[in-house]
Amino acid sequence: MGILEVKNVNKRFGGLQALGDVNLSVAENSVHAIIGPNGAGKSTLLNCLIGKLEPDTGEVTFKGQSVLGRTPYQINQMGISRVFQTPEIFGDLTVIENMLIPCFAKRDGAFRMHAIESIAAEREVIDRAESMLDEVRMLDKRDMHSGSLSRGDKRRLEMAMCLVQEPSLLLLDEPTAGMARADTNNTIDLLKEIHDKRNITMAIIEHDMHVVFSLAQRITVLAQGTPLVEDTPENIKGHPKVKEAYLGE
Ligand code: ADP
Ligand code: MG
Repeated sequence: MGILEVKNVNKRFGGLQALGDVNLSVAENSVHAIIGPNGAGKSTLLNCLIGKLEPDTGEVTFKGQSVLGRTPYQINQMGISRVFQTPEIFGDLTVIENMLIPCFAKRDGAFRMHAIESIAAEREVIDRAESMLDEVRMLDKRDMHSGSLSRGDKRRLEMAMCLVQEPSLLLLDEPTAGMARADTNNTIDLLKEIHDKRNITMAIIEHDMHVVFSLAQRITVLAQGTPLVEDTPENIKGHPKVKEAYLGE
């Protein structure tokens, strides 16, 4: 059984079947990519995994426990963390201040934004945040205004904010969207490094095939809300159904 199990999940928006009988099993410690054309249901599926949407029918379990009926915050506490397509950082705060938010959310069970001034003394938490920044090669930007960071650095910061909570499953929604090739390759290297070092499970939604084939061990192809095929990157590359439905060849 996978760390994440999706069983017969259906989701309708009015007359539109966004997800139809989706089954998916993500193996522990693997990197699993979910690909598919625009409108295939990738974001809808992701939102069903993190409690932003509730499936109409079906079951989603994480480490054997159902995530359905739980709030995004509760699911996050279970060990699922998501990197958003548009980085969700606080542009008015510095890099280190952003890092302290998830640190305290994890420790105290609630956001304590107001406490940022008074936490300067809490060395242990700051050490943890700094060491995480170092891991994503952002420590030199510790006191920079987050709003002025490059797109790549904003994403690194967001990744660090997720990882500092020590999730067992990291969900990434198009982690290289809008990046230039050099930044994309840096992100691939960073994700590989994080995966190898932390043995974390990753589920990645991604359009860039270079990224998918560089990182994933398993690939699920979604088309019109239903998994078309699930296989290794080698087999997906040559799969006639996939070429037809997705790669446009
Ligand atoms: P993808 O992320 O693969 O591009 P989405 O999951 O965003 O696809 O969308 C799947 C389908 O569901 C699309 O046809 C989209 O227009 C529709 N859809 C997504 N969210 C909503 C919503 N909140 N209300 C109505 N339709 C939606
Ligand atoms: Mg989407």
